Amino acid sequence: MRTRASLAVLLLLAACQVSGWSRGIPRRAATDAAPPAAEISAVPLGFSPESYAAQARWEKRFLEIPDAARCEKYLRRLTRQPHVAGTPGDRRVVQYIYDEFKRDGLNPEIVEYRVLLSYPKQVAVELVEPARVKLANPEPVIPGDQDTRLSDPMMQMPWTAYSPSADLTRPVVYVNYGNAEDYEQLEKLGVSVKNKIVLARYFHGYRGGKSLEAERRGAAGIIVFSDPAEDGAPRGKTYPDGPWGPPRHFQRGAVVYDFLVPGDPLTPGWPSTSTARRLPPEDAKILPKIPMVPLSAADAEEILKRLDGPEVPKGWQGALALTYRLGGDAVKVHVALQMENRVTPIWNVMARIPGCVEPEKLVILGNHHDAWVYGAVDPASGTASMLETARALGQLLKEGFRPRRTIVLGNWDAEEYTLTGSTEWGEQFADDLRQHAVVCLNVDASTSGQDFTVAAVPALIPAVVEAAQAVRDPATGRSVYQRWAERRAERSVRSYAVPGSAAGPVPFGLLGGGSDYMVFLQHNGVPALDMVFDGPYGVYHSVYDDFAWMERFGDPGFRYHAAMSRLWGLLALRFANADLLPLDYSIYAREVAAYLEGLEKIAPASFFTDTIRPLIEKCRDWQEAAAKVTATLEAWRTGTVAAPFRAPNGGLGAWRTGIEVAAPFRAPNGGLKPAATDALNAALMAEERALLDDEGIPGRPWFRHLVYAPLASYEAETLPGLREALEAGDLDRARQQAARLRAALDRALAALAGY
Ligand SMILES: [Zn+2]
Repeated sequence: MRTRASLAVLLLLAACQVSGWSRGIPRRAATDAAPPAAEISAVPLGFSPESYAAQARWEKRFLEIPDAARCEKYLRRLTRQPHVAGTPGDRRVVQYIYDEFKRDGLNPEIVEYRVLLSYPKQVAVELVEPARVKLANPEPVIPGDQDTRLSDPMMQMPWTAYSPSADLTRPVVYVNYGNAEDYEQLEKLGVSVKNKIVLARYFHGYRGGKSLEAERRGAAGIIVFSDPAEDGAPRGKTYPDGPWGPPRHFQRGAVVYDFLVPGDPLTPGWPSTSTARRLPPEDAKILPKIPMVPLSAADAEEILKRLDGPEVPKGWQGALALTYRLGGDAVKVHVALQMENRVTPIWNVMARIPGCVEPEKLVILGNHHDAWVYGAVDPASGTASMLETARALGQLLKEGFRPRRTIVLGNWDAEEYTLTGSTEWGEQFADDLRQHAVVCLNVDASTSGQDFTVAAVPALIPAVVEAAQAVRDPATGRSVYQRWAERRAERSVRSYAVPGSAAGPVPFGLLGGGSDYMVFLQHNGVPALDMVFDGPYGVYHSVYDDFAWMERFGDPGFRYHAAMSRLWGLLALRFANADLLPLDYSIYAREVAAYLEGLEKIAPASFFTDTIRPLIEKCRDWQEAAAKVTATLEAWRTGTVAAPFRAPNGGLGAWRTGIEVAAPFRAPNGGLKPAATDALNAALMAEERALLDDEGIPGRPWFRHLVYAPLASYEAETLPGLREALEAGDLDRARQQAARLRAALDRALAALAGY
């Protein structure tokens, strides 16, 4: 046995040998592995003191392994070439991930789908009146950052995937963010966008939503640009002097209506296997009808400074040094786009660590590997963290560890298009996932700074808190949790007060759209989360999201990449091994009640009293029933569990004959009776599924979850079916939706009855 101090010294020596200090990794990195002891709950939720004794040893060993220098090495390899989905650069990254998983002893496989992707052949934008100015210029090379010198012409163009081809010259109207309320204001001002090119700034909404809104308003085309107000100089120093976007960076991306249904546009709702039926492209509902092109702030300025017409309404002025005007006729722009849509192979890289007790149960870790250029933050930081988590898990396997449930690593392709790789896989294995998937732990980008940020279904927050208490925040040496709890004021959507903690409530977001958890949560009812270390990041989807940016600004020393590996792996180990699944649905019930209360603002008073109030009451019953289950988990954690749950002769879960069970599961004593753990776990897994409705949300049947769906902005929409009916003033539909929600709450309540 070693003391903590001597272990730290050994680790320091080991780290010196592996990484070398010449790379400038701060000395304190070696202690990152040691958990901040004072803050750790003795036994995490889901374990008993007996079962955690073995688990704790494996967790301690696991936390020692992730290494910042290795994360740096992975990131360098992953970002060597641009790797847009379906291109040779993408295939190269796929092979690299496969080889690393293989080296870890994880038996990976490459799963191919054939899906509709989109690429640019020619992008030309020119101001033609009142002066001729060439726009759509490439992003300039940054001296000292060789990666910004792009050889592939496709990478130099500003483009948005799935935009139709076009050749048109039209007057320009500035439409602020291009959201519905912006167009309503323009209408009041008597400014028409019909048959014009609208110029919208990025942010406050996803580009697909902006395109759909412009299409609905009769615009002929849309230019989106990166106003410095959002991601440029007003926020701080710009690249290469700081992390924010320089004036000539532009934001690529897909322009597609995947908030209606994600995945391959030609196979909505079914998997794009080689023999799959495919829609003719003209029948694909999620493809945009009008062309879109993104411009840098510098290029957009050429248009904006010449726009005439009235000055913009309050709040529409961006950060360029000019007076923003609405335009209308005098300024004309020529847009010539030649795009190519083609059905092409994409490749998910999958690895499984088979469970030895409940092999059919799946704990899924998800990340994607395709990027718009190098994607050092988005998504390669997450891929680097996943590779390091995989290596650490592989090392545990070599040392004799076997998880109780199966751990699945899913490294998805074409996320940047329509969340394509994960959606096709989630559609192909929908039955299996609905029956057996325990949780989806998604990390897209893992690191653009130091601020731990999580969006999750509420039931997962206690498990995330416990994992964050056990992982050290590299910069402060305190726990990730401590720092997280200090962020409560900013950007929090919801917050959770941790019982017994002096640190105050932690903020958490809700899951809407925009990453690979969607098919798991919103289509298959699998509890999901998405986490990242966030920070100042103004180069999203531009060429400057590269290795040098990360090394200088995002995560110098790469310790937050390693911290994410620890958090992610720890959560995986706990969900894979817990006797009882660490899910707290009493928090969930309280949340749903709060969303229902919030409908008072949009529902007629009588409807609220007669129809919504009873649903809130039902949430109270649900909360009460779920609190009893949580109390059982608490009792299990402290070893004071009531007699019926005591096993006479030990053993965790349903033992399977013929399966070699490794050391951590040979509990000498304690443990729930197998039947009791199985039944309670089945009840906990039934909760998220209870919230699905097979018919889905009106108009969006792919989205089956009645509590969470994405808005066109990608933000989370709570109670989507009911809310949209009320917003439309359609009380008949609202009553139907309320009845569906009531049935869902009844199912959730019934699943917990008797505990
Ligand atoms: Zn991403």
